[in-house]
Amino acid sequence: MSSSGAEPSIFSRIVAREIPATIVAETDRIIAFNDIHPQAPVHVVITTKTQQYRNVVELAAAEPALLAELVDVARQVADERTGGEFRLVFNTGPSAGQTVFHVHAHIMGGQLKEGSLG
Ligand code: 5GP
Repeated sequence: MSSSGAEPSIFSRIVAREIPATIVAETDRIIAFNDIHPQAPVHVVITTKTQQYRNVVELAAAEPALLAELVDVARQVADERTGGEFRLVFNTGPSAGQTVFHVHAHIMGGQLKEGSLG
């Protein structure tokens, strides 16, 4: 359950192992797993284990060190999978393509599928 008292997001349910995912990295506060609908040869979702922040703007304002940790874990994931050249995409708001309102980034490596960034 989140600290906000909201319904658990789909990502919180992955953190709790209530639904399966291929987890590729995990720290005390961050988790990364393969996207269920990959839009690139490497497509990993990276998120905070708690869901109190809806998007990157809220996270950056409240806990910049946690955002920095997320970016550092993303770099490690990308180093292992892409050789260090990658996209790190934070969709922010519905019209920007955000569908899960639990802060997360997409780590994408290789050629994107056509239309995948809108
Ligand atoms: P958004 O659209 O919010 O930026 O990104 C949400 C991402 O989460 C999408 O790329 C979507 O494919 C992914 N996703 C949604 N549900 C699941 C799930 O149950 N498992 C996994 N691994 N990824 C999911």
